[in-house]
Amino acid sequence: MALRTLASLGSLAGKRVIVRVDFNVPLKEGVITDDGRIRAALPTLNYLINQGARIIACSHLGRPDGAPDPKYSLEPVAQRLSELLGKRVAFAGDTVGDAAQSTAAGLADGEVAVIENLRFDPGETAKDEGERRAFAEQLAALGEALVSDGFGVVHRKQASVYELAEILPSAAGFLIEKEVDVLDRLTENPERPYAVVLGGSKVSDKLGVIEHLLPRANKILVGGGMAYTFLAAQGFKVGKSLLEADQFDTVKGYIAKADELGVELILPVDSVMASAFSADADHVVAQADALEDTPYGPEGMGLDIGPATERIFADAITSSRTVFWNGPMGVFEMPAFASGTKAVAQALTEVNGLSVVGGGDSAAAVRQLGFTDDQFGHISTGGGASLEFLEGKKLPGLEVLGWEG
Ligand code: ADP
Ligand code: MG
Repeated sequence: MALRTLASLGSLAGKRVIVRVDFNVPLKEGVITDDGRIRAALPTLNYLINQGARIIACSHLGRPDGAPDPKYSLEPVAQRLSELLGKRVAFAGDTVGDAAQSTAAGLADGEVAVIENLRFDPGETAKDEGERRAFAEQLAALGEALVSDGFGVVHRKQASVYELAEILPSAAGFLIEKEVDVLDRLTENPERPYAVVLGGSKVSDKLGVIEHLLPRANKILVGGGMAYTFLAAQGFKVGKSLLEADQFDTVKGYIAKADELGVELILPVDSVMASAFSADADHVVAQADALEDTPYGPEGMGLDIGPATERIFADAITSSRTVFWNGPMGVFEMPAFASGTKAVAQALTEVNGLSVVGGGDSAAAVRQLGFTDDQFGHISTGGGASLEFLEGKKLPGLEVLGWEG
């Protein structure tokens, strides 16, 4: 069954509509350092405003542990939202108490309120279903319908994500609809050739994704820290590079499986080896079969893919029609080791087809390296949620909206 969309809720004019968004933005001393998640909610909020709905936006922020904590107040977020919408946004200083109730009741058509952090109440994330349901009933009293649009939390069975969607008439907002549409195209009938580019620090974080996507892709490209486990499993010495020796058998299994299915598994042919894990460390390029033949010997560590690998990866990417990329190719946070990540990001912008970036650090990397969101087909807003979707897992926050995969 398909996701219930906004249209399925009928006319929302004059109705109090709770919108579960993901406003979990990074804050530094009360100042929002990246408002991308607030911007991602705007299409749904503007649609509801134009419909004349009375909007009660709710979200979590950080991990306040089930009690009010001013450090995690959504008040600065409400202010930023007001700037982005270009209109007043009311803020309720509690989640389901007097302030929330009177704020919700006082809204006129097309007006917007934000209620305080959902995780100030222990019911939001309670393990006990009864406690979650009790909190969801209190939330439900604030509105007449729920629009669920916090894609970053759909893999969590939490009161505002799951139970609330059972209690009120509910549907997915535009952000969830778009995420599901794009991620589904990466798992069902992708346009071919289909390349999956994986990097990041650990193989063990990405086992589920590799297992699910390997049989669906035409090419799997492996870079980043996880590549050294693949290289080591093939008998190469990797010095002090990141290594998960306990994954050798798993990785060998992937190599065999790719071979059996005719999937091209492309590993780095060279690597940037550094004398230490530091931004100003000495570094040289080494061939994949000679990673310890550098001035640093077995003390060297691989912190980026090398230039020959960049070219091979870029060709494999630009010659594909569907590309999914998760995980930086190197320690992009240090400029000396950002080249591989930049080359892969650049190649994705040149894909003649669908290019998707997933993963929190990967999304941060493309923005930090100066790319803009509109250069990619899609940058997923949900790190954990998008990976779990691509692992083929059932996500409670989507199932409750009618999605059956
Ligand atoms: P994402 O959040 O996009 O899923 P990950 O969390 O898996 O990505 O990995 C991101 C981290 O991987 C980055 O902090 C980056 O510095 C690190 N990384 C990438 N390549 C290497 C490497 N060769 N050695 C050490 N760390 C690496
Ligand atoms: Mg990460």
